[in-house]
Amino acid sequence: MRRTKPAWQKELALERVKKLFELAAEAHREKTGMEGRYVELARDIAMHYRVSVPKGLRAKFCRKCGSYLSAGSTSAVRTSAAKKAVIITCKKCGNIMRFPYGKRN
Ligand SMILES: [Zn+2]
Repeated sequence: MRRTKPAWQKELALERVKKLFELAAEAHREKTGMEGRYVELARDIAMHYRVSVPKGLRAKFCRKCGSYLSAGSTSAVRTSAAKKAVIITCKKCGNIMRFPYGKRN
């Protein structure tokens, strides 16, 4: 077993992950083509420090191909009332991700 990273390092890592997603959103808006790189970096950091990507950001990238996902442009978002889930489809690779809602809170 590897030692876990100190809490302050994890917090710092989390801040960097959030920042990178902000940069990815900006890159996507301005069509710089850099968003994939930012997502990649954010995921690298999260993995390295063993922090989980914050809930609100998990729907912002494809877990399969790593693309930055923006509703209506690079991803299709729909909700399934029967499954009580938000279903996001990556338009690049076709990967389907389900995010259950109403389970917690
Ligand atoms: Zn994908």
